[in-house]
Amino acid sequence: MSSCIFCKIIRGELPCTKVYEDESVAAFLDIKPVNPGHTLVIPKKHFENIHDMPDALVAKVAVAAKKIADAMRNIGVKGVNIGMNNGAHAGQIVFHAHMHVMPRYGKDSFSLWVGKEYYGKERELVAEKIKAALKS
Ligand code: 5GP
Ligand code: ZN
Repeated sequence: MSSCIFCKIIRGELPCTKVYEDESVAAFLDIKPVNPGHTLVIPKKHFENIHDMPDALVAKVAVAAKKIADAMRNIGVKGVNIGMNNGAHAGQIVFHAHMHVMPRYGKDSFSLWVGKEYYGKERELVAEKIKAALKS
C-alpha cells in the first residue's frame, strides 16, 4: 500500500528503530511508547487488521511477539502486555495490522482496561452469540 506508513517503513522510505526481522515479520519501537521498549510487530505484507490476515501469518506475528516478550525479560522487564487493536472502534489508528508488545517495569501509570459488570442474562446471551458465530 503506497500511502501506508508501516509499508513505507518496510520499504525503507521512513526510518524506524528495528529490533527484529525475518522473512515475513518486522518489529520496531513504537514512536510514542507507553513504556521504553514498546514494540510493534507487523507482517511485512500489508493487511488492514487481524481479520484480513491468513491464520499462518497471524501465528508468525504472534510467535515473533513472544520472542520479543521473552527477550524483554532479560532487560529487567517485570511483565509484558501483548495487544492488538483491530478496527477504529478498538482504537486502531494505523491500518496496517500490528501487535503491541508493551514492557512493564513495575509501578507505571499505564492501565489497559477497567472491567465492567454483566447484568441480567447478558453474559449467557453474548456467549451464545459468539458460539453460534464460531459454528457458522
Ligand atoms: P494503533 O492504535 O493503531 O494500534 O497504534 C498505532 C501505533 O503506531 C501507536 O502506538 C503509534 O505511536 C505508533 N506509530 C504511529 N506512527 C508511527 C511511526 O511513524 N513510527 C513508529 N515507529 N510508530 C508509529
Ligand atoms: Zn501497510
